[in-house]
Amino acid sequence: MTDQHTSLLHSILSRALWPALFTMGLAGAGMAFRSNAPLLWFNAVYLAVVVAIACFERAMPFEKKWLRADGETLNDVAHTLLNKGGVQIAAALGATAPMAVATVAHPMIKDIGDIWPHGWPVALQVALALIIAELGLYVAHRASHEIMLLWRFHALHHSVQRLWVVNTGRFHLIDSLFKIALSQIPLYLMGAPLSVFLWIGAVTAFIGLLTHCNIDVQTGPLDLIFSTPRLHRWHHSRVLAEGNTNYGENLVLWDQVFGTYFNPDRRPPAAIGISGRVADSFLGQLLQPFSSRGFRQIMGRRAHAEEQASTNRRKSN
Ligand SMILES: [Zn+2]
Ligand SMILES: [Zn+2]
Repeated sequence: MTDQHTSLLHSILSRALWPALFTMGLAGAGMAFRSNAPLLWFNAVYLAVVVAIACFERAMPFEKKWLRADGETLNDVAHTLLNKGGVQIAAALGATAPMAVATVAHPMIKDIGDIWPHGWPVALQVALALIIAELGLYVAHRASHEIMLLWRFHALHHSVQRLWVVNTGRFHLIDSLFKIALSQIPLYLMGAPLSVFLWIGAVTAFIGLLTHCNIDVQTGPLDLIFSTPRLHRWHHSRVLAEGNTNYGENLVLWDQVFGTYFNPDRRPPAAIGISGRVADSFLGQLLQPFSSRGFRQIMGRRAHAEEQASTNRRKSN
């Protein structure tokens, strides 16, 4: 192939890959949900999308130096697996939560328990659920950046120095459970059906894989609707003013409503990470936020910056 052909192919792929991989993931999820073994087939589709993204990361990386190993791959996979297990347990608990809540607060819940629009087409129900769940995700994610009690858990996700498909699921278990609680409990209380939860799970899974991908994709107008790799690369910036933006997990609607949408016309940073330090081992990373010494390590220079900011606030009051 000539250089001209290669660059034409690169330009087509860079525009087509995000929508193509997302659509293929959702189509695969749809088939999995209709099969006799939905969870098994969904995981197979998920793995196939991971492999496809990993191949394109090699063929057309956004940042070449992010292809280099960082010694964190096993920890990333372990956190992902623990989170998936945690989510299953939370979902099982969640299925009984509305009953428990209804028993305790029956008069209050009885009236709001029936407000879900079961008669709408499934696609519209999923869109509505996404917007509602996204508000919970937005609040949880923003709080995790602005409240240091929560940042100590979320910092693990931001401690990476490369973005690639495998560290998509690198979240502290507490961080994940907090996000799930805020995003899913409102839907349970409104009476959303299981199929809607499955679809929300599928959308979140594939958009999540894509937000961390190190593929040179051009998402153009999609940046106005979805949390794309470009927007999420800004979110991982070392510069707080750039990183404390784009909190949306699937949609960026609430970032636009609350003024935290950030997409300047320049290349997102390749130097990402936090000013503090997280532990080296998987177990160390899980336990670190619970000790005051661990918390100080996680905060690093940010502790100093926060202290300065609060001193300045006191002075100006
Ligand atoms: Zn974050
Ligand atoms: Zn991320």
